[in-house]
Amino acid sequence: MKIAIAGFGALGARLGVKLQSAGHEVIGIDGWAAHIAAINTDGLTVVHEDNAPKKYYLPVMTPKEVDGEFDLIILLTKTPQLNRMLTDIQPIITPKTKLLVLSNGLGNIEIMAQHVARDQILAGVTLWTSTLVKPGEIHTTGSGSIKLQAIGESDITPIVDAMNEAHLNVATTNDVLTAIWHKAGINSVLNPLSVLLNASLAEFGTASNAMDMALNILEEIREVGATRGIKVDINAIIADLIKLIRPENAGNHYPSMYQDIKNGKYTEIDFLNGYFAKVGRQENVPTPFNTLVTRMIHAKEDIERVK
Ligand code: NAD
Repeated sequence: MKIAIAGFGALGARLGVKLQSAGHEVIGIDGWAAHIAAINTDGLTVVHEDNAPKKYYLPVMTPKEVDGEFDLIILLTKTPQLNRMLTDIQPIITPKTKLLVLSNGLGNIEIMAQHVARDQILAGVTLWTSTLVKPGEIHTTGSGSIKLQAIGESDITPIVDAMNEAHLNVATTNDVLTAIWHKAGINSVLNPLSVLLNASLAEFGTASNAMDMALNILEEIREVGATRGIKVDINAIIADLIKLIRPENAGNHYPSMYQDIKNGKYTEIDFLNGYFAKVGRQENVPTPFNTLVTRMIHAKEDIERVK
């Protein structure tokens, strides 16, 4: 299968090399010049846990340079960058191209529907992780899985099979929105609170009121979800949070929002807590905690960018 990964950053690169290793023709699309140059000159370095670094060679180019037709384009920009990426890769999207978004946060499907027909859209959530430590080098741990769904009418069996040939552990679901809201609930707790408390996930978990703060955020998300017909299962999210913050799981990890703030970048907050606060305003559901968290993260973005 001919596959483009649009957003060949931390996670895009990890999935890209797995797909290529399974025999698919994979190209990366990215706009970061130093990263593209490093990969095209010396290959992509992947350090998996304590193993020796491995090199992978696959072409990476900018949206302007990319040409040809693809069976599948996997979208893995940060959510605020999705609209721009879709605009820039418009010339390579044909009516036959399927586009799968795996970026975190809410609103991705609506953004995609502005660019392509609904039966071209696949949306999913993933538990694969990766960290981009410098241009051309990612560090990875463990393994992951992907849950996905076709948003319109289309047969996605060949895509699921192709991804599973690469051991991406893909399963289809009939209710991807519930999965997306579930994951956004987890991220709306761990991402901003890790930034605001300057804590790894395990350190966050040592706070005696950690789960009280989680509940403040999640109870609002549950009420907002109800206005959209989405059932947000708070107990299931809390159970996942308790698992995730254990050091033997993701406890020693600093979430991507923490890394973004550290690197002076804008975060995905408007597609997490900010999204829930916005829908809450539209639906007259009070969301004081999500609104405050969103404002504090925007303040932190400003403060760190000025530093
Ligand atoms: P990243 O910032 O490392 O990668 C995004 C890449 O997209 C960057 O290399 C950037 O240069 C490129 N890009 C963005 N806009 C572009 C444009 N218009 N043109 C060209 N290139 C463009 O991010 P990531 O960590 O790989 O995360 C991607 C998404 O996956 C996010 O939504 C994140 O929340 C989600 N996610 C990440 C992980 C993880 O462990 N990294 C895990 C699960 C979900």
